[in-house]
Amino acid sequence: MHTAEHIVNGEMARRYGCGRAFSAHVEKKKTKLDYHLDSPLSAEELASIEDYVNGVIQADVEVSEEFTTQEEAMARFDLSRLPDNASDTVRVVHVGEYDQCLCAGKHVGRTSEIGRFRISSSRYQDGVQRIVFKLDQN
Ligand SMILES: [Zn+2]
Repeated sequence: MHTAEHIVNGEMARRYGCGRAFSAHVEKKKTKLDYHLDSPLSAEELASIEDYVNGVIQADVEVSEEFTTQEEAMARFDLSRLPDNASDTVRVVHVGEYDQCLCAGKHVGRTSEIGRFRISSSRYQDGVQRIVFKLDQN
């Protein structure tokens, strides 16, 4: 779930310049991601995101990590969400060439382990686009 979230976030930020989800609720069977957008995503755009994520999953890319200093990371990432007491060494997680971000969470080793990605619902309200996704095991 969490690794799939990385892929969606990376692509949303690239396509719409909205940054990564400002709020994420990870539940047992679904994950809800919220983005600030000026207008709702169309059914075609949502289908395109879904296809994109499944493409990355099928490409079976490696998820790897890299350790760097906060100072070096500052040039590459938005560190505003880093807790004040974070250590000087920070972890960067890469999903192949598709996404990189600072993260302390747990990830699969390869994207093929994610399963099949499906956007189960979406909603747009007050400038916030919510995307809810589920994973189906192959
Ligand atoms: Zn992560």
